[in-house]
Amino acid sequence: MREVTGSRHDVVKGYCAACGAMVSRRFRPGPNGRPEATCPRCGSLERHRFLSLLLGSLSPELRDLDTVVEIAPSRQSKVLLDRLDARRRISLDVGHDSRDVDALACLTNLPLRDGSVDLLVCYHVLEHVPDDGAAMREIARVLSPRGIALLEVPIKVGVATEEDPSASPEERLRRFGQVDHVRWYGDDFDTRLADAGLASVRVTPPALVGESAVRWFRLMPHEVVWVVHPGQGSPSPLLPGDTGAGLGAAFDAVLADLATAQGRLARERDRAARLVAQRDRLRARLAAEQARRAAGVLTRLRRVVPL
Ligand SMILES: [Zn+2]
Repeated sequence: MREVTGSRHDVVKGYCAACGAMVSRRFRPGPNGRPEATCPRCGSLERHRFLSLLLGSLSPELRDLDTVVEIAPSRQSKVLLDRLDARRRISLDVGHDSRDVDALACLTNLPLRDGSVDLLVCYHVLEHVPDDGAAMREIARVLSPRGIALLEVPIKVGVATEEDPSASPEERLRRFGQVDHVRWYGDDFDTRLADAGLASVRVTPPALVGESAVRWFRLMPHEVVWVVHPGQGSPSPLLPGDTGAGLGAAFDAVLADLATAQGRLARERDRAARLVAQRDRLRARLAAEQARRAAGVLTRLRRVVPL
């Protein structure tokens, strides 16, 4: 979508779904210098903004929640999950750092009752866990019959999962992208979930909101979230799969209109700036002319009346 820049006036740069507001300042770089990743208002990254949109899409299924669990929480995701107003919010992690968690626990041995969790969010954890099958079975165990898990892992398309829990830290960094990753998932991730008793559907930002809105919402087009339900069969009919949804087409139309309006506004501002510059040039010429005339009058005066 066309953006309006270079104006001394603030122009809306995008919409942040995490803080729920139009953003007129430029989005800041994110981890590894990723451009325009961080919302200048709330500090959210692309995945937090996508999570917020996903939670919105799933809201009919997320009413009257009993227990919501987040594994390895972040400050930004915590805010989004708190808004769901669940009766119980539990955050878990294997170790503690500056983030506040309710309990230390491993994903392969969750301190939660069978069928007790209505929503479980687990982003970028499974690639750290040596026995990820056990972790997936634990997720299947704790989810309630209506429960949903939102999972995110690093994945490569067109290849099988590559893993080696015994690899040295240097080798892990080289092969899996981080010293504490034990694998890089491939096309079989969905099958692994199914083997653990979890039905899943992949959701990407373009499939959920359309291509134009991906840029407007500052999302990553290639991000994938797995929306997971316990059991076999087809998961949520509310979410589109790989194909575009009516919602995406609607966003495209609205944003095309907005782009036209912004373009018109930019042209009007350019015109106003040109008129101001023209006025300033005329003023300067007028001032120069007045000075020249004043000097001429003075010279003539000197000739007539020696001063
Ligand atoms: Zn924000």
